[in-house]
Amino acid sequence: MKLSRIGEFGLIDRLERLVSHPDEQLVVGIGDDAAAVRTTPDRLLLLTADVLVERVHFDRRIHSFQQIGWRAMVANISDIAAMGGMPKHALISICLPGSMRVEEVEEIYGGLNAAAQEYGCAIIGGDTVTSPRDLVVSVALTGEVSEERLVTRGGARVGDLICVTGQLGGAQAGLAMLRLLESTGTSPLPEEQWVQARDRHLWPRPRLREAQEVVRSGRIGAMIDVSDGLAGEVGHIARRSGVGAEIWEEKIPIGPQTLRVAEQLGISVLELALCGGEDFELVFTIPTDGVRDVTEIVFRKTGTKISTVGKILPAGEGLVQVSSKGKKKTLVAEGFRHF
Ligand SMILES: [Mg+2]
Repeated sequence: MKLSRIGEFGLIDRLERLVSHPDEQLVVGIGDDAAAVRTTPDRLLLLTADVLVERVHFDRRIHSFQQIGWRAMVANISDIAAMGGMPKHALISICLPGSMRVEEVEEIYGGLNAAAQEYGCAIIGGDTVTSPRDLVVSVALTGEVSEERLVTRGGARVGDLICVTGQLGGAQAGLAMLRLLESTGTSPLPEEQWVQARDRHLWPRPRLREAQEVVRSGRIGAMIDVSDGLAGEVGHIARRSGVGAEIWEEKIPIGPQTLRVAEQLGISVLELALCGGEDFELVFTIPTDGVRDVTEIVFRKTGTKISTVGKILPAGEGLVQVSSKGKKKTLVAEGFRHF
């Protein structure tokens, strides 16, 4: 059977059945942002891994070696953040084409290490091997969370509101601009907006502090980070929580530079926000009466705005996208397709 027939998530489901076996320490297994195992009575160890492959996740004509390293590390930090945890220790495995220079490899590690230092974790080992063609950077990261602060994709309840941090679609808009610049040599955006759009893609910032404030509130239901677009992430929450959801198009927070990019390139801004990858914002659910307090405290402590973009529905109502005029259609939970 071809991988394309079942897709990435179909494959994960099959592999989950293949490897699952009872484990007394296991609290959260395959299918969340990170796995969680009980190591001491009230602390959980979080484990996650992400691989970046040349020409799939990055392009050496667009991304510097330092940016490749930074992006590899923050993708993992964002997953630990989405579980309510703090990142701890990283193992880096890197597959290097023989044509690469020592200085270039050091730049990748410079980017990895800069992100590790910024978010309080440490690189403690890994593996270095040759690759016949493409550069591959794989990060495995541990984290820690106290048991009462653990949050999964499975905790959403009917009636909860769906909130997001920051703005969506920016990273995809930035990538679209970088591709345009690479192929035509010009960027149609004014300088300031260009820098904003570009940096959202090149130097993503995981929402670790925001996640900590949200879990500290004690009101949170489910949480996930945005690596494949809002629609896909809401789909994951709905599936793991056994609920439905609706997303209100006009409430989705979109930055001015993203609007400008969409306008310039003639692409749908909604598509950027719903299906665009790697914003590394957080999507979480919270009971209606908790939203105001959480929004206020996150903004006060971190300066990051929280937007309410939808509501959790009973499972039978499925996934719904509501337009500004109240028109409803099925929310297509489709992020980046690997297979
Ligand atoms: Mg994730």
